[in-house]
Amino acid sequence: MFNQELVLKQRAEILHALCSSGSTEHLERVLDILLSQGELIWEEYQSIQVQGRALYTNVRQLLDLVYTKGEDTCEFFLAAVKQVLPEAQGAGITFSGCCSNLEKTGESQCTSIQTLLTQRASLVTKIRACIDGALEALVESGHFTSADCDEVLLPIHTPSQKARRLLDHVRSKGESAAKVLLHYIHESESSLNQEKWTLSKEFSKYRKKLSSSVSAQSCFLSSYGGTSHMPLDEIYTEGQLELANGCADLSGALDLDNIVSAAGTVNDEADTVLVSGEAGSGKSTLLQRLHLLWARGVALKGFLLLFPFSCRRLNSEQRELSVQELLFQHCCWPDKEQEEIFQFILDHPHLILFSFDGLDELKQGFSDEHRVCCPTQRAPVHILLFNLLQGSLMKGVRKVVTSRPDAVGPMLKKHLRKEVLLKGFSPSGIDCFVKKHHRDPTVAAKVLESLQMNTALLGLCHSPVLCWIVSECHKELLGCGEGSPQTITDVYLMILQHFLQHQSPLKSTVGLGWLQEHIKAVLHLGQLAFEGIGTSCYIFTDTDLETCYVTEKDICMGFLILSKDMSSTHSKRYEFLHVTIQCFFAALFIVLSNNTDRSTIHKLFELQNMKGTGLSSTWFMGCIPFSDQQGQGLEGESVIAETSNLQITATFVSGLLSQRHRNLWLHCCSSAVMEKKVRQVVKCLSKGMHKHFKSIPQPVEGEKKSMHAMPGFVWLIKCIYEMQECKIAKDAMSKLEVDHLKLTYCNIGPVECTALAYALQYLRKPVGLQLDYNSVGDVGVEQLLPCMHICNSLHLRNNNITDEGIRKLIAKGIQCDNFQKIALFNNKLTDACTLHFSLLLKTKQNFLSLRLGNNNITAEGAKQLAEGLKFNHSLRYLGLWGNKISDTGAEALASALEGSKTLVWLSLVGNGVGSAGAYALAKVIESSTSLEELWLTENCITKAGVECLIQALERNTHVKSVWLRNNDLSWEEVEEMTRYESRLIF
Ligand code: ADP
Repeated sequence: MFNQELVLKQRAEILHALCSSGSTEHLERVLDILLSQGELIWEEYQSIQVQGRALYTNVRQLLDLVYTKGEDTCEFFLAAVKQVLPEAQGAGITFSGCCSNLEKTGESQCTSIQTLLTQRASLVTKIRACIDGALEALVESGHFTSADCDEVLLPIHTPSQKARRLLDHVRSKGESAAKVLLHYIHESESSLNQEKWTLSKEFSKYRKKLSSSVSAQSCFLSSYGGTSHMPLDEIYTEGQLELANGCADLSGALDLDNIVSAAGTVNDEADTVLVSGEAGSGKSTLLQRLHLLWARGVALKGFLLLFPFSCRRLNSEQRELSVQELLFQHCCWPDKEQEEIFQFILDHPHLILFSFDGLDELKQGFSDEHRVCCPTQRAPVHILLFNLLQGSLMKGVRKVVTSRPDAVGPMLKKHLRKEVLLKGFSPSGIDCFVKKHHRDPTVAAKVLESLQMNTALLGLCHSPVLCWIVSECHKELLGCGEGSPQTITDVYLMILQHFLQHQSPLKSTVGLGWLQEHIKAVLHLGQLAFEGIGTSCYIFTDTDLETCYVTEKDICMGFLILSKDMSSTHSKRYEFLHVTIQCFFAALFIVLSNNTDRSTIHKLFELQNMKGTGLSSTWFMGCIPFSDQQGQGLEGESVIAETSNLQITATFVSGLLSQRHRNLWLHCCSSAVMEKKVRQVVKCLSKGMHKHFKSIPQPVEGEKKSMHAMPGFVWLIKCIYEMQECKIAKDAMSKLEVDHLKLTYCNIGPVECTALAYALQYLRKPVGLQLDYNSVGDVGVEQLLPCMHICNSLHLRNNNITDEGIRKLIAKGIQCDNFQKIALFNNKLTDACTLHFSLLLKTKQNFLSLRLGNNNITAEGAKQLAEGLKFNHSLRYLGLWGNKISDTGAEALASALEGSKTLVWLSLVGNGVGSAGAYALAKVIESSTSLEELWLTENCITKAGVECLIQALERNTHVKSVWLRNNDLSWEEVEEMTRYESRLIF
C-alpha cells in the first residue's frame, strides 16, 4: 500500500504542486505519461481532462482515480509527477518508492494509433515545432477538414495544447490518419536536422550592420567613460550565476551560454529568461558581454539576429510603435528590403533574440491586461514590451530581460521560461577583477592586501559596482590607513573625493575642504539626481541639466556620461555613471540642500510601507521643488514605485548623516539643520524597527517566539549599519524580543551579513538565526562572526559555503557558550571541514545539533567526525543525509556512538550504506539509551543487514522508528520483515 498511501497523505501538496502555476500544462504532461504507460485508458483521460472545468477539480479527479486504481497506478503517477515537476521533491513531496524509469513501457507497439498513445509525451514536443505542416499534411491526405484545423488551432490553446488536440483528433480519425501524422513527423525531423537558410544578400548585409552596431555599443565599459576607455574584453570578470529557486539543479557553475540554454527551464512554453540581481550586481555588464560575444560570433551562435534594448531608453519613446518599427528604429535600420527582412524574422522566430536591460527602470509596472498580438499593430512601447515578454507577440523569439528582483512580481513570473540570479563576484572574482583593473601587479597586490585586512570592505566588493569604485579609488584607499572604508557610504564618498580632486589636481585641497570647494557642483548634480529618483528618470536632456544649473564643468567631473542610444535621436542625453551613483547624489542633495521639503526625510523612509501601491513615486514627487518635464508627463499613468532606488538613497542618507562624516559638512551647511536631519533619520529608523517588532505574533504556548523578516527589515538594518553608531543599534535591538529570527530567501549576501552582525550583536537574548537559501558564502560567514556569541542556532542551508568558511565559523563558535546548533544542508563542504566539526564536538559539551546533509562528505570525513563524537556527551541530532560515507563511514560513526546517552536522531539517508553499516548501527541501537529515530532510507542494505537491526530492536524499547525505504530488498522481504518488527518503516 506504500505508493497509494503516499498519494493519499500528500494529496494537498500534490494538488498544490500541479495547480499553483495556474497553467494546465503540468497536469496535461502527467496525463500524457499515464496514457503512454497504459495506466489510464482513453475514457478515463477524457473524464479528467474536462475543458472549462477548474484545474483543481481536474487534478482532484485524477488523484481520486489513481488512488482507486491501486498501488501500481499510484507508483506510475508519482513517477510522472516527479518527472514533470522535479523541483517538487525539494519542496517536500516524497516520491521514494516510485519507479524512476518511465521510458520502458515493455509493450511492443503494433498500430500507429497505439504509437500515438505510447509515445504521447514525446510526440507533443515534436508536434509543437511543426504543427502547421502536420495539419497541412492531414488536410492534403483528406483526413482533416479546415474545421478540424480550426479546432486544433484555437487561439486559447498553448502550443503544447494545440499539439495534444491534434493528437486527439487524429486518434478519432483512425489508423490511416495516425500513419500520415507519424510519417510527417518523421520526415520533418530529418529535414529539421539539416535545416539551412538561404539568406538573401540584403538580409546578410542587415545582419552585418546590426552586429557591427551591437559590437560598437558593447565593446567599452561605460563606467570607465569619465576616466578612460576600458575595453570590456580587458576588464570583464565572470560573475556568479545561479538558477533561481525552484529550477531543476544543474551541476557546476552556469556560464553565459546557459542563460539561453534549456538548462533549468521551468516553463517550456515561455520565451522569456529573467536575469535578476541587485543594483550594481553586473546585469547590464553581463548583457553587454553577451551582446559582444554574439556580435563576434563566439556565443549565442544559434541566433542570427540579436536586438538589444534598454528599458531606460525605451522610457523616453513617446510614440506608439509596431514591433517592426521598434526593432528597426531602436536597434538597426535596414537600408533596403525592410519588409523582406521583417518577414524572415517572423518566419524564423527561433533564430532571433531580444534583450531588455533594466526592466525595473521602466516607468510602468508589468501588466498583461492589454493584449497586442499583431506585429504590425502600433501600441505604446511598454505595451509592446509586455506582450513580447509574455509571448503574445513574436512567440518563439527568445527574450532575455534583466531586472532587480523586487521589480518582478508574480504576474510576470508566470511567463518566465526560467530565472537566473546574478550574485556578484565570488572571492576569486574579486581577485581577478582587481588584477585586471590594475595592470601594475604591485598596485593590484596592495589593493588586494588592503581588502584582506578589511573584511567589511571585502564583503562590499562582492558587488561589482563597489569593487569597481574601490579599484578606481585605490590611491584614496591605500592612503587612508586606519580609516579604511567600512560602509557603502564610505565607498561612495571615496569616489566623490576621487572625482572632485581629479578635477583640480593641482590645487588638491588638503584635509576636509575638498567638498566645500565643489559644493555648488555637488548640489547641482544632487538636484538632478534627486528629481530623477523621484520621477523614475535616469536619462537627462540639456533642458533637465539647465533646470538644475548643471554646467559643462560639472559634467566634466565624470559622474555624468553621455547616454548611449541605438536609436537615431540627435540631441545629447546624459545619465549617471551608475544608478547607485544617482542615488548617492540624491542623498547628498537631501543632506546638504536647504531647498528640500522638511518632510522629505520622513517621506523617504516611510515610502517603504507604500511598496506596490503605485503611489510612492507620485507622492514623493510632492517633495520635489521643481517638477521636470518628464515627471509631469507621467501624471495619471500607473507609475511604478521605484522603491529600490529610494531605499538605496535612504541608506546613503543614513550613512551621510553618520557622526563620522559630520566634519565633512561643517562648512557646507548649518549644523543646527544637520542635527535636525540626524534626529529625523534616527526617529524614522526606530519607528520602522518598532513596526516590525510589533508585527511579531505572540507564540503559541510551549513554542518559541519567532519572527520572519518582513520586506524592509534587512534594509532598515543596513541603514543602522551605515550610521555606525552603537547607541542607535543598541536602542533598535533592545526592543527585539524573539527566540528565532528567520531570514530565509532574503537575498542576503556578505554586505547584508556585515550589517546584520553589527546590529544583532546588541541583542539582549540569544536567538536562533535562520539564513537558509541566501548567498552568504565564506565571506558572509566571516562577517557574521561578531554576532556568533548571541546565536544559539545558525541555519545556513544553501548558501555556497565551503570548508574555508567553516574553518573560521567553527574557530569562533567554539568560544561561544550559546552556540548549540548548526544546519548546513546543501553547501560545498568536503571532508576538509570535518576536522573542525570534530574539534567542536570534542570541545563543546553543550552542542546539540549538527546537520551536514547534501554535501560532499565521504568515509574519511565520517571517520573524522567519529573522532569528535567519541568525546562528545551532548549531541542529540546528527544529520548526514545525501553524503557519501558508505559502510566504512557508517561503521566509524557507529563505533563512536555506541552507548550514546544523548543522541536522539541520526540520519544517514542516501549514503551508500550497506549491510555492514547496518550491522554496525545495530550495535548503536542495542547500546544507546537515547536513540529514538534512525534514518537509513535510500541506501543499499540487504535482508541480512535488516535482520541485524531487527535483532537489536528486540533489545531496545526506546527506538521509535528505523526508516528503510528504498534499500536492496524485495517486496516479499519487506512484507516479511514488517511482520517481525513494526518499527521498521519501508
Ligand atoms: P547592474 O546593471 O546590475 O546595476 P552594472 O552591470 O551596471 O550593474 O555594473 C556596475 C559596474 O560594475 C559596471 O559599470 C562595471 O564597472 C562593474 N562590473 C559589473 N559587472 C562586471 C563584470 N562582470 N566584470 C567587470 N566589471 C563589472
